[in-house]
Amino acid sequence: SRKSSSWLGRAWSGWMSVPLWLQILIGMLLGITVGIGLGEQAVVLKPIGTLFVNTIKMLIVPLVFCSLIVGVTSMQDTAKMGRIGFKSFAFYLGTTSIAITVGLAVGYILQPGAGLNMTPDAGVAVAKEVPSVMQTLINIVPTNPVAALANGQILQVIVFAVALGIALVLIGDHGKPAIKVFESLAEAMYKLTDMIMKLAPYGVFGLMAWVAGQYGVDMLMPLIKVIVAVYLGCALHIIGFYSLVLTTVAKLNPLQFFKGIRSALAVAYTTSSSAGTLPASMKCASDSLGINKKISSFVLPLGTTINMDGTALYQGVTALFVAQAFGIDLTWVDYITIILTATLASIGTAGVPGAGLVMLTLVLTTVGLPLEGVAIIAGIDRVLDMARTVVNVSGDLVATTVIAKSENELDIEHYNADAEQSQIM
Ligand code: ASP
Repeated sequence: SRKSSSWLGRAWSGWMSVPLWLQILIGMLLGITVGIGLGEQAVVLKPIGTLFVNTIKMLIVPLVFCSLIVGVTSMQDTAKMGRIGFKSFAFYLGTTSIAITVGLAVGYILQPGAGLNMTPDAGVAVAKEVPSVMQTLINIVPTNPVAALANGQILQVIVFAVALGIALVLIGDHGKPAIKVFESLAEAMYKLTDMIMKLAPYGVFGLMAWVAGQYGVDMLMPLIKVIVAVYLGCALHIIGFYSLVLTTVAKLNPLQFFKGIRSALAVAYTTSSSAGTLPASMKCASDSLGINKKISSFVLPLGTTINMDGTALYQGVTALFVAQAFGIDLTWVDYITIILTATLASIGTAGVPGAGLVMLTLVLTTVGLPLEGVAIIAGIDRVLDMARTVVNVSGDLVATTVIAKSENELDIEHYNADAEQSQIM
């Protein structure tokens, strides 16, 4: 038609053919430019950003609830599966809490948000009453799961979802219809996340314009510092911690490991999706690392659903960044809360681009940090997402390797064979 061939139509279809990460980057740069140009007046663009933040907040409860149930029910109930499931779960949670500690340490040492002097909007509750440790533990179990869902009490939602998932598995055939429903809902929530992420360029534009208008060029340096901090943390975790685990726990050569999985890591970095990388990881596990498919076909998908070391690490860095940017002092209770929340939240994080950003709102809320912090991080999130997805995928593969070794399901000769050669064979 004549309308769609107008220059506006052509410009729009040209814009739509730009990959999302680039759109977000352009949105961010445009936002900064416009914000610096408009100064304080850029606040008129803020509602666009608020709308975006609201839409991602809308996802949290249903996304966590459904994908967690699917994660739990995907464990089958035979004895061996039970044992491997338990091992995987323990390994995944353990490495994730170490990852977030690395993130907190890097954020603490590099201080990426120091000197920003931002002030939260009036009405955002910053000073939250600190409940006692005992009270916190007791509150983990919801007296009313529907109320927990309605009020977004995410720890309670997680506890209920895990319990429900286990029960659904235990009742066998009777559980199948409900499991199917949750699988279908989880799928829909991933799709919805996908759709909402398409709005990110505009939301990021509005948020960055407002932030840049209010704080000027002073805020660019801290963002670069956040990127450096996250990348440094990721590198430390992969090169230091994973190598250590492979050498000490599994007595395997880490160099062989990284050589064998590099194609999966390349896919992870470019797609920012550990779920999307799953086929590549599966192939690396059996073709390059010599892991029996029986193990990898269970441990890897489970890891993709519940194990997110990179995401947890990123949340440690960014939570500290936000606290520093707004000049909020965190107590040691806050640190422990961040470690617990981020570890549990990473279970409910989907392996799709941007999911970690959604979960960041949850971590910030739990320790009472202002949600405007998400807005600032959103602008650079794709760059961070790429790095954390690489860590997420590496972590899944490290776990699979260690567990396969302990179950005698790893062919050592195959593992030590030249990676390239075994890929050809
Ligand atoms: N993109 C990450 C992944 O797929 C999840 C995240 O956003 O943190 O592993």
